[in-house]
Amino acid sequence: MKILLANPRGFCAGVNMAIECVDRVLELKGAPVYVYHEIVHNRHVVDRFTRQGVVFVNSVDEVPNGGTVVYSAHGVSPEVRQRSNARGLIQVDATCPLVTKVHNEAIRYARQKFTIVLIGHADHDEVVGTLGEAPTAIKIVECVEDVEKLEIPDDHRVAYLTQTTLSLDDAGRIIAALKQKFPRIQAPPKEDICYATTNRQTAVQKLAPECDLVLVVGSQNSSNSKRLVEMSVNRGTPAYLVDDASHLDYNWFDDVKTVLLTAGASAPEDLVQEIVKLLVERYGATVESRHVTDEDMHFELPVSLRRLEKQHIGAL
Ligand code: SF4
Repeated sequence: MKILLANPRGFCAGVNMAIECVDRVLELKGAPVYVYHEIVHNRHVVDRFTRQGVVFVNSVDEVPNGGTVVYSAHGVSPEVRQRSNARGLIQVDATCPLVTKVHNEAIRYARQKFTIVLIGHADHDEVVGTLGEAPTAIKIVECVEDVEKLEIPDDHRVAYLTQTTLSLDDAGRIIAALKQKFPRIQAPPKEDICYATTNRQTAVQKLAPECDLVLVVGSQNSSNSKRLVEMSVNRGTPAYLVDDASHLDYNWFDDVKTVLLTAGASAPEDLVQEIVKLLVERYGATVESRHVTDEDMHFELPVSLRRLEKQHIGAL
């Protein structure tokens, strides 16, 4: 058996930054630290922080008065910030800058009285946050059928935005349907589907056809990880999403000569290496690293965290 290790894979710049934010707040403030929603959609990351004293909350009302709350990489709506302000909470904003960019685009289009078609999954934290920026201007579409039903008051003033972690295939189909129905629709100035989503999907697109099986390390609620599975299955190679090595089913490996191993943007690398180790031990697999695209993105820590660190140093 041969393992092809997809490059790039795993943690993106936004996830690295969000995890570092929580680590630093834990160091500064000590447990408990409150995080609004899962910091990133990965069970192992969330479990590790829970063991360290992080409390994940679904409402900022669960944070004690004057406490510190970290916003997840997926971003929050202005209503959540207002609620935190009203309660005097210290807020550390670990929203990925590429999600903030979509928020800013929504605000700008709404000010110009555009209807904004937001392509994304209505129940995803990121889409809920973006919707909150301009709830009366935004219409969410999840599929081509939604485009058919869409009604826009002024088709001279319509723009589309997308969730950052969509399938390139699905988004392409939905955008084509939008352009056909609303020929004047404006595209975001720069692609909203982020570099990490694009690079991981492109790697699967290129490498999956050489393989009999694709394994994606990631959690079931990770949008970008699920899209990697779909990308492979849609091109005819069976693929499974696994949280870790304990989720492997050995029946999957019958007659398999080549396995592509990749990981979603929120999946830690040690979980990938555990699977490599297991396949090497059990099947005598050889490992070949396949580089598809360069990736060197890095995001600075947010101003809200740096301010908190300065205050802490000042108080010492
Ligand atoms: S997947 Fe993309 S948008 Fe999401 S945190 Fe990573 S870089 Fe940011």
